[in-house]
Amino acid sequence: MKAPQRHTSLASSVELQGSFTQGGMLVGSTEPGNRVLLDDVAIAVTDKGQFVFGFGRDAKLSHSLDIVRKDGTRTRQSIKIKKRKYDIQRINGIPRKMMQPSKKTLERTRAEAWLVKKARNVFTRQTHFLDGFIPPLKGRITGVYGSQRIFNGEPRRPHFGLDYAAPIGTVVKAPASGVVSLVHNDMFYSGGTLIVDHGMGISSTFIHLEKILVKKGDIIKQGDKIALVGTTGRSTGPHLDWRVNWFQVRLDPALLVSR
Ligand SMILES: [Zn+2]
Repeated sequence: MKAPQRHTSLASSVELQGSFTQGGMLVGSTEPGNRVLLDDVAIAVTDKGQFVFGFGRDAKLSHSLDIVRKDGTRTRQSIKIKKRKYDIQRINGIPRKMMQPSKKTLERTRAEAWLVKKARNVFTRQTHFLDGFIPPLKGRITGVYGSQRIFNGEPRRPHFGLDYAAPIGTVVKAPASGVVSLVHNDMFYSGGTLIVDHGMGISSTFIHLEKILVKKGDIIKQGDKIALVGTTGRSTGPHLDWRVNWFQVRLDPALLVSR
């Protein structure tokens, strides 16, 4: 696995650290009181001048970051990120089995997707992501961020998680501290589903869990036992699927633990 590029820019009163790539998370700091805009949209800044943002799987490669000082002066700097190569599998000649979900299933999956979306939109001023991330368990990685299958020329939804193969019942540890924002024992696709808010829009999602050991609102510390691996929901076998978001933007968990 490639180590993330860690850059520091001291120019124009802002410092950025993290992975300058699609799927990457960047942590910044500026003088307290400054406002920050990413691509012309204001993002949250703590009292200490810290902020965080990230880029999705197919994010454009050029972005702007504006720092607006209390006196109204503004500095713009451009951020260039690297294009990723994703694992794309083309499968041809196999007739695609059309699974037509029932109306009831559709209603259920829509309601569940809304709960997940709502949990990922939670905004708190915690900054646990600053302490770094640890792998939630030790296991062989069997699925990576961004991978995609194309059946007979028809692209399927990319995979956004980092999959670890592990037997049912393996303990899942919190990769970073935070507050539990969603516990659901039986979602149609993702089965036992747990979301932890690490602050400022950064969250971890764990799916296909056998058992969730925490409840909504619990304050957890990095390394705490939070769940047990399972194969619940639409899962192909026992594994942990770990996802990281900045609000609705899907980030690559592998970039956070490969240091
Ligand atoms: Zn997965």
